[in-house]
Amino acid sequence: MTRTVQLEPQVTRVLAPNPSGMTLDGTNTYLVGEPGSGEVVIVDPGPDDARHLSAVEEALRARDARCVAVLVTHFHGDHAEAAEPWGTRFGATVAAADRRVAGPHGRLLEAGERLRMAGVVLDVVPTPGHTADHLAFRLPSGAVLVGDHVLGRGTSVVTSPEGDLVAYLASLRRVHGLGPSALYCGHGPELTQDPTAVLDFYLAHRAWREEQLLAALAGGAATVDEILAVVYAAVPRELWPAAAQSTRATLAKLTAEERVRPRPDDGFVLA
Ligand SMILES: [Zn+2]
Repeated sequence: MTRTVQLEPQVTRVLAPNPSGMTLDGTNTYLVGEPGSGEVVIVDPGPDDARHLSAVEEALRARDARCVAVLVTHFHGDHAEAAEPWGTRFGATVAAADRRVAGPHGRLLEAGERLRMAGVVLDVVPTPGHTADHLAFRLPSGAVLVGDHVLGRGTSVVTSPEGDLVAYLASLRRVHGLGPSALYCGHGPELTQDPTAVLDFYLAHRAWREEQLLAALAGGAATVDEILAVVYAAVPRELWPAAAQSTRATLAKLTAEERVRPRPDDGFVLA
């Protein structure tokens, strides 16, 4: 992926140099602002990395803008680590749903809030599921900055125990309902072709994994490791710790629905 790209007049993406199995090409940091306003908002500063900072500062110079606020989609370090240091460096407000990210002097964002910053209107869209504090930001163009709710390739992880699959599915439907013109993801390329089809795929993918999990239990698998060996047999091993989290989140959903029952020995059986 190209490191710095202008996606639309109001949005520049800067890719951080932190690629991995979980972060794909690295974390996408977004600069959002009306051209000529002299201001931008940074969404998901990413890792506190000198090379990344200088790439972002170069993008600020190219836009002839200063950073007036740092918004963060969720507390994971690959999105939030630079929030406080960059907020201090730029003299910008740090804003997030979680006090751990916003810091003692930052601003706590609320679901449904409408932000007017850097000459643009940003709608704060609650998207819990990947984590409890997860937010997305809808732009005037109809594009949605989705953080880790949806990735540019593959699928996202519902973390466990913090994540919540029921909330995650509701969040997918919420973003779907916005009829987004594009999804600008926390990792991987932007999804501009048919964003609602991607959201439909995500919903179908979760339903498919749930069916596979139920079939694995019916086949005699009981523990998370046994379920992984069946359901994620085709997925590289390095992604199994993440798959285990999504599996636990699915088991929690099915347990709440009384479709599976936990056993005293850490395993699960069909109810
Ligand atoms: Zn991430």
